[in-house]
Amino acid sequence: MKIRVWGCRGSLTTPGRETIRYGGFTTCVEVRLSDGTLVVVDSGSGIHRLGNALLAEPGTSQLWLLVTHAHWDHLTGFPFFTPAYLERYRIHVRSWPEARDALRRYLEHQMDPPYFPVEFSVLKAGFDFDAIEGSELRIGNATVVPIPLSHPNGGTGFVFIEGGRKFVFLTDNELAIQHPGAVRREDYLDAARGADLLFHDAQYSDAEYASRTRGWGHSTYTQAAEFALDAGAKRFGTFHHDPDHSDRDIDASIRLCRRIVRQRRSRMDCFAVAEGMTLEA
Ligand SMILES: [Zn+2]
Ligand SMILES: [Zn+2]
Repeated sequence: MKIRVWGCRGSLTTPGRETIRYGGFTTCVEVRLSDGTLVVVDSGSGIHRLGNALLAEPGTSQLWLLVTHAHWDHLTGFPFFTPAYLERYRIHVRSWPEARDALRRYLEHQMDPPYFPVEFSVLKAGFDFDAIEGSELRIGNATVVPIPLSHPNGGTGFVFIEGGRKFVFLTDNELAIQHPGAVRREDYLDAARGADLLFHDAQYSDAEYASRTRGWGHSTYTQAAEFALDAGAKRFGTFHHDPDHSDRDIDASIRLCRRIVRQRRSRMDCFAVAEGMTLEA
């Protein structure tokens, strides 16, 4: 699997000189399977540029859009995803079981008046919406396993397995609190165990978390690093960067995470996920 990051900022699109290196667009991650099948996770503001890149790729007319949850920062780019306006695309939208009847409504609603000038009904791409049935979804040669997030209003993370390789995507996941619908920390560890690549929410510093942001649905850098180490991930990327954190703040957070990795005598590769990154899982 090839992973390309189109957006990794949390909560709010954050352009500017302070966020150039890690990027300002919100969640959108491309997972390209070995047979070329395109899977897109979330339609945050990063999906706009992914859409434009797809137009230059005439061989791709079908894609899967997996939605973690319906918070704004994960949907906001959808009305600006050009392939949705074009007849030649087929978009399979999938999400967590409880979203079965609501998934289409989430995407439609943000285009309803008075929020947006163009209604969903104008879109010409073919759409099908469904919840992920049972314990996994098969896409080509890959298996996608959903895992409920610990997050206000719920949501789902995804484990991608293809050819014995494993990419685990857990954003908007608060490890220190079990929100309604969430599973236990041990279950998240099982899901992430031995991942070749793990992206995990690491929005806050411990100080921010202790003073203000506990219960908002996100983890701290140190919580996420400890989690990645406990899971035995080979590579760990911090994800869902806080809009108030500059590139330098994120650099500092990674120094802290790497210190934890050294203290644990691990060889895990630890980095901050950055917009534009391409990684092999
Ligand atoms: Zn988010
Ligand atoms: Zn969220």
